[in-house]
Amino acid sequence: MHEDTCTICGNNNSVGVFSSGIAPVSGSMCQTCIDKQAENIGIVLYWICSHGKLGDVPEFSQTIISYLDGKYVGWNEIASHYKKHENEIVKDFQKEFMDSSDTLVDDPLWPDDATLDEEE
Ligand SMILES: [Zn+2]
Repeated sequence: MHEDTCTICGNNNSVGVFSSGIAPVSGSMCQTCIDKQAENIGIVLYWICSHGKLGDVPEFSQTIISYLDGKYVGWNEIASHYKKHENEIVKDFQKEFMDSSDTLVDDPLWPDDATLDEEE
């Protein structure tokens, strides 16, 4: 299945389907997002949830780039967005894993040694 919309930034300039560096999911990405190794913001937020709380994520989280409110953001912006919306994000996360067998991940305990460099 080919989608033309980049799943990270939403522009209609996807160049293909690529894997996330932090979760066993893949989606269409544009060249800019590939170059920046950007992650889908929803995946990043769920990924934080999967670790329990913000302070429990692996150290490489500091290097995560995502796309939020029309621009590329680093970990500080992601973390403050998460803090601001923590309750609803956690609720969504739990709903996702309780309501659907077709979840984003097979195992919510994603490996801690996942790196952002897998596409190299
Ligand atoms: Zn993009």
